[in-house]
Amino acid sequence: MVEHLLGKKKAVSPILTPGSIIKITKLMAKKKKVLARLQCQECKKTNYFTNKSRGVEEKLEFKKFCKSCKKHTLHKELKKK
Ligand SMILES: [Zn+2]
Repeated sequence: MVEHLLGKKKAVSPILTPGSIIKITKLMAKKKKVLARLQCQECKKTNYFTNKSRGVEEKLEFKKFCKSCKKHTLHKELKKK
């Protein structure tokens, strides 16, 4: 397959070159979000996970349904170990 393409001397799209793929991968790594765990403030169980942008310092807080408490409770973000 590769030999066939080379034989035809087809121009390879720049986005498909190995160098470009590395650049795209690095770009994606920069935009990567960190996983934040949300802990129920009543039973201290970690019930939810959410994506948080890197560099955001303030703690996230959500009113979520807790299976253990069987009601909506305040879930706060846990600091990553
Ligand atoms: Zn709970």
